[in-house]
Formats: sequence, structure tokens, C-alpha cells
Amino acid sequence: MRFEISKVLDAIEGRVCTDPQLVRAVVDLAEIIRYQDLDGGRPASTLRLGMVIDALARSLEEDNAAVYAVVHRGVLSDADLTSNERMVVRRWADDGLVEVLDNPGDRMLEVADLLGLPVLSRVRFDGLRGRFPWLVEQPGRALAPVPGAGGPVFIAHLGGGHTPVAGPPSPAAAKLLAREWRCPESGCNLFGGSGGGGAFADLAAVGRKPTGQAPPSLRNGVPTCPRHGTRLRDAGPRPRSEVLAVRVGGLIRRRFVVTEEQPVLVGRAPDGSGGIMLGQWLNDEARRWISRSHVRLELRGSDVVVTDVSTNGSGIRPAGSLAEADRISLAPQQSRVLASGDMVELYPGVQIGRPSELPAGASYNPDSVMSEAPTMAMRLPR
Ligand SMILES: [Zn+2]
Repeated sequence: MRFEISKVLDAIEGRVCTDPQLVRAVVDLAEIIRYQDLDGGRPASTLRLGMVIDALARSLEEDNAAVYAVVHRGVLSDADLTSNERMVVRRWADDGLVEVLDNPGDRMLEVADLLGLPVLSRVRFDGLRGRFPWLVEQPGRALAPVPGAGGPVFIAHLGGGHTPVAGPPSPAAAKLLAREWRCPESGCNLFGGSGGGGAFADLAAVGRKPTGQAPPSLRNGVPTCPRHGTRLRDAGPRPRSEVLAVRVGGLIRRRFVVTEEQPVLVGRAPDGSGGIMLGQWLNDEARRWISRSHVRLELRGSDVVVTDVSTNGSGIRPAGSLAEADRISLAPQQSRVLASGDMVELYPGVQIGRPSELPAGASYNPDSVMSEAPTMAMRLPR
């Protein structure tokens, strides 16, 4: 049983990050782990984060949707969690996957505001509606996760069920997110990097996916580390990047980021780290057709360039057209700039493109982050 729980927590770990480009909603972990009515279980359980993430994926009709979790420091030593759960949350904190704060205040709303994301919370934020008017104006931006027939569902704070919606990112965010920021505190997990990040920061960085930096907190207009309250140093422009997504069988399965330094291989089972493995979503025929590494995507200047590295070749569907006559074939070793609206097709129904430009999803049920859990009603060993 303990082993199964660890596997669930590993799966959840893959769905929490502070990368502004990949997250789809903001949550307060301390709040969510205490939603006892979601499963009727223990007073606190990190598995409830998995349940809420699943609800988000179902609601967005997108696999692998990730959340930005703000965590009160007290959660790291919460006696209502198992020692295993506390250890896992501490690891997330150490790796900068979650934002640990002594006093979260309205940081959850600030992140949602800066990034234009929905917040998943039952708190009503009555006193903050002046500062964050979208809490009232956009019902899908503030959603309360509540028990539903097949797991949690979201209801808008102003009544009725709802799908999370993204708003426009705040104008301040574009400036903040165009730069890299450094915290003067050594070992800062959010704004470390060269010069910070502790003795083993470089070692830890090896083999980890590139993660975009968290948005700084703005205090009186000054970029500030939300963890340490210190003024951040501008460390230059943030490397250019572009978000792409894999779509299989009509459903977005995974988003990923390409940068100039970090080309990404997509295929059945690409070698090395950082590749996007499609094997688990393919039928036998597609698995035979698609090479282990099938296409390479990279950023050159502001262009996304796709290079076929497969045995069988690929195709480009301009402007997402699914008409056979429009398909441009991409022979092995051939490269092409991905124009606006273009979709790369590795095999019929297996595509890559910019997430906002991919055709809308069919009605699928995304894979559960909890699929390793035998039943939700289980009692954890303590
Ligand atoms: Zn810091």
C-alpha cells in the first residue's frame, strides 16, 4: 500500500510546477489537503491535490494539466500528514516545484492575476475584489472544488458549475516575465540560478527539465522574492521560449517548452532526458509507424523549426487543416519553420502544434493522475 501511495505522489509531482508557461491554475496546497469532504478520509491528505488536478484535467479536457501550488510553510511539518507525505512535500519545496511561504497572504491571487490563470479555492476573497476585479467579473476565474459524482467538480463562486477560464495576463507580468530574476538569499529555490541555488544547484539541474522561473511578487512596484521578501536583482533577459503541445486522438496530452538551448525530441520513446514519449497513447499501428525519435523541435530566433528525424517521415497541416490535399509532407531529415497555425503530423491523429492553435478537443476523459491509486477510500498507513 505504501508503495502505491508513493507512486501516486510521484504522478502528482509531475503535475505541480512554478513554470508560468505550463501551469493552468493556481491552488493553495494547505487549503486543498484539508478538503475532507472530497473523500471523507483523514483530516489532511495530499491525495486531494491529485483529485483536484484530475478535476482540472477533466474540465479542460487536457491530459497532464499542471497547477501552481502556493504552500504555507506549516504544511511541511503538518502532523496530520503521514511522514511520507511530509517528506514528499519537502522535496517539492526543495526542488522549487511549489512555492513555500511563511505568510502566503494574497500570493495565490497575485500569481493568478499576473499569469491570467484561474484560482481553484473555496475562499471567497471578499475583501480583495477591489484589487482583483476578475474575481467578480469572470466567474470561471475563481472556482471552488466540491465533491461530484465522479470526483471533484468546480462551481463558480457566484453559483453554477463552471470550466476554468484564463484571463488576460496583467500588463505588469509581461515586463516581469521578460527578465530573469535573482534572489540575494543563497539557496533560494525560486530565484536561484548562477550564484545562488546552493552548492549542488548545478548538479541538481542536470537531467531536470528546464523550468521557467516563477513570477516575482510585486511589492510597491518592486520585484520581490515572495519567499524571502528581498528585492530581486535583474539578471538579464529571460531566454526566448515557446510552448508546444502534443495532441493524440483529439486530446492535448502534454505541453512542453522549447528554448534555443534546449531542442526537444518527440517520438515513440526518445533517447535521453527531456524528450516527449508518445508510446503510451498510441495504438499498435501508430507505434509501428512512429520512430523512437520522430521529430526534433527547436527555437531559432523567434522561429519554431521542426526537423524530421524518423524513418517514415511526417507531414505539416497548414492552419490545422485536416484536408488530405493540404498536407505537406516532411521527408526524413527535412526541416521546416512552423508557421502560425501549422500542425506537425507524425501519424494520423498524432500531432504537435501551439496549444492555442490546435483544433478543439473531442470529448475524451483525460488519464487520471491518481490511476495508480487502487481506491480513493483507502486509509493510509501512518
Ligand atoms: Zn528568495
